[in-house]
Amino acid sequence: MDATPSPKELVLRGLSAAPGVAVGPAYLLQRGVAKVPKYAVADVDAELARLRTALDATRAQIGALRDEVARRMGESEAAIFEAHLLVLEDDLLVGEVERRVRRRKLNVDHVFSAVAARYIKAIAKIDDAFLRERASDIRDVTGRVLDNLLGLGRAGRAGEPSVIAASELTPSDTAALPADEVLALVTEGGSRNSHSAIMARALEVPAVVGVHGLVAALAAGDTVVVDGDAGEVIVHPSPAALERARAAAEARAARRRALLADDGRPDADEEGAPFVLQANIGGADDLADARATRAAGVGLYRTENLFLRLDGWPDEATQAEEYLRVVREAAGMPVTFRTLDIGGDKHLAGHEPEANPFMGFRALRLCLERPEVFRPQLRAILRAAAHGPVSVMFPMVSGLGELRQARAALASVAAELAAEGVRPASPVRVGAMIEIPSASVVADALAAECDFLSVGTNDLVQYLLAVDRGNDRVASLYDPCHPAVLLTLRHIFASAANRGAPCGVCGELAADPGWAALLLGLGADTLSMTAAAIPEVRHVLRRTRREDRERLAAECLRDADPAATAARLREFAAARLRPRA
Ligand code: PEP
Ligand code: MG
Repeated sequence: MDATPSPKELVLRGLSAAPGVAVGPAYLLQRGVAKVPKYAVADVDAELARLRTALDATRAQIGALRDEVARRMGESEAAIFEAHLLVLEDDLLVGEVERRVRRRKLNVDHVFSAVAARYIKAIAKIDDAFLRERASDIRDVTGRVLDNLLGLGRAGRAGEPSVIAASELTPSDTAALPADEVLALVTEGGSRNSHSAIMARALEVPAVVGVHGLVAALAAGDTVVVDGDAGEVIVHPSPAALERARAAAEARAARRRALLADDGRPDADEEGAPFVLQANIGGADDLADARATRAAGVGLYRTENLFLRLDGWPDEATQAEEYLRVVREAAGMPVTFRTLDIGGDKHLAGHEPEANPFMGFRALRLCLERPEVFRPQLRAILRAAAHGPVSVMFPMVSGLGELRQARAALASVAAELAAEGVRPASPVRVGAMIEIPSASVVADALAAECDFLSVGTNDLVQYLLAVDRGNDRVASLYDPCHPAVLLTLRHIFASAANRGAPCGVCGELAADPGWAALLLGLGADTLSMTAAAIPEVRHVLRRTRREDRERLAAECLRDADPAATAARLREFAAARLRPRA
């Protein structure tokens, strides 16, 4: 008889980042080990055999990734992986590693890492943009080979539906995860408003972040319960805990089915006044959900997700193909393209590391300084606009000067395309995101020169309160109920209304049903959120009247107390989510 005792249940607590409950085997995703070991080897042939196995494994992974990208995005996007495969055949690199292992009798991981680093450094210095691009390909591929030599997991390789666990998840890791293999996400670091957490909510999987001790407590394949509502992770759950988790997951699925099976009535409140709910998307694949939840358009298309998925800087043709797919899949729904927002926690090879990236060379700042990045994107967006209704909005606008420069770039690209015979199907509306406090202060002037404004509350809260949105150490200070946030929002909405420019909200607050009512009460015109949140927000807003929403806003402003406001919002939503007698 097998007398091995079952491992003891271990409950770890973190911060709830995406709702729901999931059970599954753990897949440990590790990246970038700080130190590659160095040791002498006696059997050189065995070392070189390890190298060949790692190269074969890498070829297979890149081939699979290539096929997946070709299927999801088309052949031209997949072409980048052909270049990656060539790196593996590069005799300068692989031959040099073999020669050095033989000569110095050192372990292949160490030699490979040293040769690759020298190679990348030499290429990165070359004064030629095309060759410098190659440095990022080589960094990516050699990183994969090294992970294989060291036996580490990388994004996109779980192979079966799993709970993805990591110390940190970057947005490009998350973008690379195959949606059908992710049951839940758990990380040691991170916070509710990091881009990875936002992506988890778009994938509609539970997520818990800030789980200290997670990686040390887990082994690959361990059964794990992830409770995204309670912010809890249970390793080796007892039969009772498993039973509770499965019942909670089923109850939630039933509730969602009920919310989704809505009656198809137009989006209007109890008095028949319409409200507008739009979807936030990261690519064409998100549009099926947007259509299923009857979104009234796309209020935020995070165009940088394509860059993150490819982990590179796609050219105009690649972007145009993807954007056209988005416009086609939107099937007549207006799509708001947010221009590239790289920087902050969204890092790409070729983007210099910075001491303070959220305050650094991010989004519009980068685009205005790098026309070779900005203009191809604007051209690709306007080419897609020839096939359906499109708006363009600029992220991280800090004042009028930047808005004018961005508009001038757009106008110049539009004139260039018109000369080539490419014209938008309908006038392209231009907007500014309000997510920097200085922009909120001058919202009136910005609204005067825009067709619309859209408030990015995720960043606005972080910059207003000076709390890093991705740092779990200060997550409790990231409090959108702070009276400064409410007063700022009221000021932005009033400024836009004063100029007759509609103002929406596309930050995560719009996805919370209590907040959705408050935002409308404070004066927002439209709300854009991950499609998964639309049914619940719709359900609550349908059970409100203008007077209720405005009273809610007045009471929260009067509270001037974050805890009282949070409780008031919870109760407002809960009262409307309870089944009616
Ligand atoms: C925001 O900041 O609220 C926003 C919508 O943009 P992102 O989350 O992509 O920074
Ligand atoms: Mg933002």
